[in-house]
Amino acid sequence: MDKKRYFETEAIRIQAERSSHREHSVPVFETSSFIFRNAEEARDIFAETLEGNIYSRFSNPNTDEFIKKMCALEGAEDGIATSSGMAAIFLGFISILRPGDHILASNQIFGTTRLMITQVLSRWGISHSFVIKNEKKIWEDSILPTTKVIFAETPSNPGVELIDLKWICKLAEKHGLYVIIDNCFATPYLQRPIDYGADFVVHSATKYIDGQGRTIAGVILGSKDNIKDVRMFSRIIGPTLSPHTAWLLSKSLETLAIRMERHCSNALQLAKYLESNNQVNWVRYPFLSSHPQYNLARKQMKLGGGIISFELKGGIKRAMRFINALELVSITSNLGDTRSIITHPATTTHSKLTIAERAESGITDGMLRISVGLEHINDLIEDIEQAINKSK
Ligand SMILES: *Cc1c(COP(=O)(O)O)cnc(C)c1O
Repeated sequence: MDKKRYFETEAIRIQAERSSHREHSVPVFETSSFIFRNAEEARDIFAETLEGNIYSRFSNPNTDEFIKKMCALEGAEDGIATSSGMAAIFLGFISILRPGDHILASNQIFGTTRLMITQVLSRWGISHSFVIKNEKKIWEDSILPTTKVIFAETPSNPGVELIDLKWICKLAEKHGLYVIIDNCFATPYLQRPIDYGADFVVHSATKYIDGQGRTIAGVILGSKDNIKDVRMFSRIIGPTLSPHTAWLLSKSLETLAIRMERHCSNALQLAKYLESNNQVNWVRYPFLSSHPQYNLARKQMKLGGGIISFELKGGIKRAMRFINALELVSITSNLGDTRSIITHPATTTHSKLTIAERAESGITDGMLRISVGLEHINDLIEDIEQAINKSK
């Protein structure tokens, strides 16, 4: 039974124990609590000398199944499912940080993660710095005696900039630091940060893990030891994932591999198209040879992912006209959906950053981010092309 199976098989066949009804597909365990056979069993389960579910804030067959799958796919030992990606990131930080500690984070991170560091954790005596330029020497020089953790996304949101996972994990090891990687853009199908030595992987499961724009959820994964405090905090604070959402996500994982294959092939074709259009200033996509970290991308990622950033000639006004001219692609702030989505980071996802912070993060006023969906590539290119032409 311990035979290691392929990614696709694990994503489908890891399953909660069947009930006496012998259902093929797993049911939703919509129950707040679980019944004990007798007082002694209740005592032993509470004492953790006997395994068993107590209360759905702690554990539930649906969240357990989802976590088991995520662990198998990411190569982690343990994890906690949360009600949002932000809750997973927060649990990661608070489980390892104390007042006086310092967070060293990549400058290119999700806007709300940045706000968590600057607006929330700062109130509890946790300082931070952002690595303005993604160069190895600058990363190393930015480590302070109080630095406790390195936080990074790769590829980053929205600039699809990469961090060398092997290198950053070695650097952290040398300085005795934790590494938290937000693996939201790549998913375990494209890269597994824990294989390189990352201590925690976090996800906004809202994105590719669900992949269909239906829910908000998160997950944090790591070694048994690292997850101990995460579990304690989660049980006490209660950012728990509902059984229904866990069931939904576990179902979604069954198709993660084939969805990612199509997201990536559509995105590569669209990126190539954009690069060939003379109305486009620049295009960033990890598997385009023009990406400054193309070689790293080929080494570290199985495919290039589903997100492209680019800029049209004509700056912010042109960007707005282009968005308004799109007929198929949706204007919404999610990503990783079956439906293609356009976002203007400077006025939406990253609008709470100061102008200087945006400039430092490489978010130009004209930058557009497209989350390439699973529609037919010809329809996508046709829509983008007509909007480029109409917005001239
Ligand atoms: C969306 C997102 C998050 C936040 O996740 P929620 O599920 O919205 O809480 C964190 N990191 C990245 C990279 C994201 O794209």
